[in-house]
Amino acid sequence: MLVSEGEAHFFTDPRYTGEAATVPAKSHVAKGLLILGVASTIKRKRLRKVGFEPSWMDMDQHGRLEKALDRRASLHPVASLIEEQRAVKSPEEIAIIRRSVQANSEAYARTLKRIRAGLKELEIAAELEFQMKVLGSEKPAFETIVAVGDHSALPHAHPTQRRLEKNELLLIDMGATLDGYTSDMTRVAFTGKPPKRVRELYRAVLEAQLAGLDAVRPGVSVKQVDAAAREVLKRHNLEKEFMHSTGHGLGLEIHETPKIGKKEKTKLRAGMVITIEPGAYLPGFGGVRIEDTALVTERGCEVLTPTPKELVNL
Ligand code: ZN
Ligand code: ZN
Repeated sequence: MLVSEGEAHFFTDPRYTGEAATVPAKSHVAKGLLILGVASTIKRKRLRKVGFEPSWMDMDQHGRLEKALDRRASLHPVASLIEEQRAVKSPEEIAIIRRSVQANSEAYARTLKRIRAGLKELEIAAELEFQMKVLGSEKPAFETIVAVGDHSALPHAHPTQRRLEKNELLLIDMGATLDGYTSDMTRVAFTGKPPKRVRELYRAVLEAQLAGLDAVRPGVSVKQVDAAAREVLKRHNLEKEFMHSTGHGLGLEIHETPKIGKKEKTKLRAGMVITIEPGAYLPGFGGVRIEDTALVTERGCEVLTPTPKELVNL
């Protein structure tokens, strides 16, 4: 996209000629490199100063664009210009996110009925993603995380051929994409009667997650929300075991502004959709993370995720 005052230009290749007609912009179907089409439009429109999204334009494209412009226009990185505008969702967007969250939770509930010891992480992940699609999701919002036993101590574990056994932790972190909008949820189950260490770990993380949600309201800075969750884990001597941020915004992308982290200063505003997902990870033993998708409302927050938060006993 090239956006100037009162005009938007959309560049694509001949494979998308049909779809391009539905884009609310002037569309250009280029046979060669799209970036060269962008350059010629910039020159034709006599634009002098052009901003670009540094986290999306790669070095190769930037180099080609700069060369093609031949000093007739200058390029300036404008970080998070679009992201800031996307942080607060419209009522229409919130309605779609609600549906995405519901499909995600329903896919989890349907899969949970089929999970038993003996299944592989990859098989459980495949079932979750199958159910998501049956429920109208076009794709997962990210690589579905299914981690059994000590794998659950890896915050971003990749599913493997490992089989779920009796008396093991099972961590599932999943998100759907529905009509373009994402959802995100983490739940933890145990196959058998959970031992004291698991129950205590779970209780501490749940307490932290509830404290995080409780701190969410307009005007509060995200680092206060992060601190609310982090302090609970600190009280349970699990401060070092919680090594990631408390949450993130989501929408068209799975990670959007604001990041709910220790050093972030953004203030929450009504209409933001965020996750609250503290966790604690004990290497060689296992980990627990509990994650909901929540909407910042005028008065506080509404947890959109309908899935219960008790430790599931399989
Ligand atoms: Zn998340
Ligand atoms: Zn997640």
